[in-house]
Amino acid sequence: MNESHASTWHILGAGSLGCLWAVRLARAGVPLRLILRSPERLAAYRRAGGLTLVERGAARLYPLQAQTAAEPAPIRRLLLACKAYDAADAIAGLAPRLAAGAEVILLQNGLGSQDAVAARLPQARCILASSTEGAFRDGDFRVVFAGHGHTWLGDPQDLAPPTWLADLQRAGIVHDWSLDILARLWRKLALNCAINPLTVLYDCRNGGLLEHPAEVATLCEELAELLQRCGQPSAASALHDEVQRVIQATAANYSSMHQDVAQGRRTEIAYLLGHACAAAARHRLVLPHLTTLHQRLLRHLAARGLPSH
Ligand code: NAP
Repeated sequence: MNESHASTWHILGAGSLGCLWAVRLARAGVPLRLILRSPERLAAYRRAGGLTLVERGAARLYPLQAQTAAEPAPIRRLLLACKAYDAADAIAGLAPRLAAGAEVILLQNGLGSQDAVAARLPQARCILASSTEGAFRDGDFRVVFAGHGHTWLGDPQDLAPPTWLADLQRAGIVHDWSLDILARLWRKLALNCAINPLTVLYDCRNGGLLEHPAEVATLCEELAELLQRCGQPSAASALHDEVQRVIQATAANYSSMHQDVAQGRRTEIAYLLGHACAAAARHRLVLPHLTTLHQRLLRHLAARGLPSH
């Protein structure tokens, strides 16, 4: 057994990305345990017989071992695969089980949840991730692998790559160790802020924003100013060009925020546009279009009974 294999992976959250990671790691022979929300969810999982992953139209059941946070065994390696708004609470329930020097991989989109988690885990190394893979749930404990992509991982406090990247390699999880993961997360956040809220407000596919070029351009200017002020010049560089490229390349798609709102699901707004506006306020930076966009989006969500955080 090599070093990268010595530790069992624990994966909290058997949703879209949690399932994608769990199934591929298990197929590569990596020992792992899923951590589910409650005894009721564990019972439902056992009734389902495991996780089902649908790939290229074919569904396959994987009877992976699962437990709840109440299990006593220590955790040395944890993949936190819940939504950003669940991350701090989820980790609070697990913190007593984390061994000294444990490694926690944070898959959450946006920014803000990572700091909230790290503040609760002084004994652990937190590794941040940013992924372009796509998956969605089409039933309980059933996930469709919708789009192959790439995952960047990095640790702003310690640039040395962890040994378990070899597990990801064997599992076919396409990844790179990033020496500037914060720049990647900020860039993705800025792309999200320039595209997703407008698709919700105009109720359109990404391509619908081609009809609002001036609004998109002004948002990109303000976002680039914010990134500069936050010490992220590389994330600010040529932002508008990339936003336009993404709008063109994904013209037929509905953004993740649009899908969440259309299906009455809570969004991650507080970790995306909300985080951007809070950072601007902290730097006393006046960004009128971004602020108005945030207010319009909050009103839109409130009118549909969806939370603002
Ligand atoms: P998801 O499908 O909603 O899955 C989240 C899972 O976390 C759910 O199964 C939920 O349990 C579980 N969970 C929440 N709190 C928990 C707790 N305390 N204990 C145990 N389980 C808990 O979400 P996702 O789409 O995988 O997204 C995860 C993160 O990845 C998000 O930040 C998202 O933006 C990001 N991301 C997603 C994709 C994608 O294609 N899906 C792509 C890139 C990035 P229940 O089932 O009991 O509710």
